[in-house]
Amino acid sequence: MKIIVLPGDGIGPETMAATVEVLQSVNKRFDLNLELEHDIAGHESLKKHGSTVTEALLHKVKTADGLMLGPMSTYDFKDESKGEINPSKFFRKSLDLYANIRPARTYSGLTNKVGPFDLIVVRENTEGFYADRNVESGSSEMLITPDVVISLRRITRLCCERIARTSFELAQTRRKKVTIVHKANVLKIADGMFIDICKSVGQEYPDVQIDDYIVDAMMAHVVRAPDKFDVIVTTNMFGDILSDLTSELSGSLGLAGSLNAGTQYAMGQAAHGSAPDIAGQDIANPMSLILSAAMLLGWCGQRSKSKRLLEASKAIEQAVERVVKDGQVTRDIGGNLGTQATGLALAKYLQTH
Ligand code: NAD
Repeated sequence: MKIIVLPGDGIGPETMAATVEVLQSVNKRFDLNLELEHDIAGHESLKKHGSTVTEALLHKVKTADGLMLGPMSTYDFKDESKGEINPSKFFRKSLDLYANIRPARTYSGLTNKVGPFDLIVVRENTEGFYADRNVESGSSEMLITPDVVISLRRITRLCCERIARTSFELAQTRRKKVTIVHKANVLKIADGMFIDICKSVGQEYPDVQIDDYIVDAMMAHVVRAPDKFDVIVTTNMFGDILSDLTSELSGSLGLAGSLNAGTQYAMGQAAHGSAPDIAGQDIANPMSLILSAAMLLGWCGQRSKSKRLLEASKAIEQAVERVVKDGQVTRDIGGNLGTQATGLALAKYLQTH
């Protein structure tokens, strides 16, 4: 089984090194026969190949079993004609990774401001307000005059249906509740369609309870009582924003694991960015990327019906629970361990338990 590893920008190389440590540890313990092939994307690739991502890299990813993408300094990449392509967009669009699954949960041993909760934000990943993926070529953001910009939002029946289905299927494995988050009071046609489709798909899952919230009010509800929610399904930008909030509520963005999944391919990627403010200091929390790697192994395990991969995925999650409980964590969640030492603590735990 081959996984392509792209460390990325900012804190990416540090957090990916810790993630690789953990992957090597489960590889040994569960005899996964895992091959990790390193390559580059983002600033390093721009310098070397004149582009943040290349078609050759995409080909390599397509022939592998999974991809681990480190955080990218997307904001730096302004002009696609100069090779400054947003790598997240590139892989999500090229591999049709339509479901961005972003769990947020609290941990025993870690105090937070809102009490215990365990939820998953399921974010549509291939259209919505993200102008760089809405059209076949170019962007759906247009400079009409020097003073007028139009950014188009695309919502399609296909994308609504498949993200709804992902959410209901996930809910069936959990507490059987789906919350639809939308702005149908203003975006009446697009988000009206999103709600209708989610509810209609929901009829195929009669054991799953459904409710819905307008996105602005949802921010208050999720801060007030996050334990009310199980699976939250929403469109691209709302999901991007909401999932940063839920991760931070759980303790830190540094716990924000995420999986980008389609029918054929999947990519583990922390929900946060390249955190330039803390890059190169060995203080970033690698758990977000490590939990993303666990999700990728879980996805591969389900697909290939491999018990060992599923066990490895679970073992990583349990190791995170244990070291958090023991306080062997980075400073964003109250500890004093470095990025590298956190990876080593997890790897050691996995070897001995
Ligand atoms: P960010 O998510 O990088 O950081 C926000 C805050 O969270 C910062 O204070 C940072 O120090 C902290 N943080 C993030 N990850 C952490 C971790 N693992 N451990 C501890 N603290 C952590 O957001 P930003 O600063 O607005 O963006 C930086 C760059 O990342 C920009 O270029 C942006 O476009 C890009 N970005 C990329 C992705 C992605 O690759 N998926 C996502 C979001 C932002």
